[in-house]
Amino acid sequence: MANAKIIPIFASSSDIAPDFRLIEPESCNGIVSDRMQRPLRDLRISVTDRCNLRCEYCMPREVFDENYPYLQRAELLSFEEIERLARLSVQLGVRKIRLTGGEPLLRKGIERLIEKLARLETAEGTRIDIALTTNAVLLGVKAQSLKDAGLARITVSLDSLQEETFRRASGSDISPKTVLSGIAAAQRAGFTSLKVNMVVKREMNEEEIVPMAAHFRNSGIVLRFIEYMDAGSTNGWRMDDVIPARQILERIASRYEIRQIESNYDGEVAERWAYVDGAGEIGVIASVTQAFCQSCTRARLSTDGRLYTCLFANHASVDLRAPLRLGASQMELSRLIANSWLRRNDQYSQLRHSGAVSGEKIEMSYIGG
Ligand code: SAM
Repeated sequence: MANAKIIPIFASSSDIAPDFRLIEPESCNGIVSDRMQRPLRDLRISVTDRCNLRCEYCMPREVFDENYPYLQRAELLSFEEIERLARLSVQLGVRKIRLTGGEPLLRKGIERLIEKLARLETAEGTRIDIALTTNAVLLGVKAQSLKDAGLARITVSLDSLQEETFRRASGSDISPKTVLSGIAAAQRAGFTSLKVNMVVKREMNEEEIVPMAAHFRNSGIVLRFIEYMDAGSTNGWRMDDVIPARQILERIASRYEIRQIESNYDGEVAERWAYVDGAGEIGVIASVTQAFCQSCTRARLSTDGRLYTCLFANHASVDLRAPLRLGASQMELSRLIANSWLRRNDQYSQLRHSGAVSGEKIEMSYIGG
């Protein structure tokens, strides 16, 4: 059946789970949309729940110590399993895949996975955009092999240029110079659209907003400031620790003239601002103070193969590893992914302050940041 499509019969915002008919998902290039009409477009894949940093807002050392129950090797999805699920997701509408974690460069042979994912195509023959988020500690040695494997884009996380501030924030002995040399290696390897993400947390690194902006001006690298989020349940998040994006912009504007510019595409999470003197652009991601759930098209695949439809979820929408390992067909797996998305009604960030959401949230290191 050449023109096979996923046809939602019922996908309203009622409480009844939508039913749907699925015809030959393998040949399907349909778009699956959730109960708020948001299509499935992005897949974030966590390839490990381990990290070589202990950022206080993500994997605080007091919790993520040597006794923490990290996943065991056999529990992790293999590269072949990830590729299979990624391919099915592409058939359901995914156009961007981001590898994350934990620290994705800790996953042995990650290049092999990138090679597989870089070969994925839509039914029209368009390649999928493959990106990776990393703390860059290992980027100095990995940049060239990542490029050779077919990785298109890299986002580096860096919260400070100050030795002491960086070490405290990252809960490590690593120097920010290591991260900067990782970025330089990526540039030498030919990565042109590099981004740097800086999480801003009160009393952690707020004094670094302007110095970071100054450092990345004229570099061709887009620095994006991220509001500290209540992701996971172990970081002791308090609203008081959030520096709202507006205040971040005010600090930068007190030093450099900036003007807002148009987003690159519908649903872009960062608000874009350009330096009026032509020194490049910055972004702010205001997921706490200006929630963007209405345009969220991201699903997350955990290290052990559970699908999450919201970063702030407290449970998976489906376990894909068990059926994978029990020999489920393409059709059955596709149906599980599609059905999870059709049922999706998540809008955590918009409800955050309403008291309507509760429960322990899944850690970001496990479902992928
Ligand atoms: N280890 C990789 C890295 O550092 O980029 C990838 C995983 S990390 C969880 C992905 C991103 O999430 C990083 O940029 C990190 O700073 C950000 N992040 C983690 N916890 C956060 C929080 N509570 N609020 C905002 N951003 C957070």
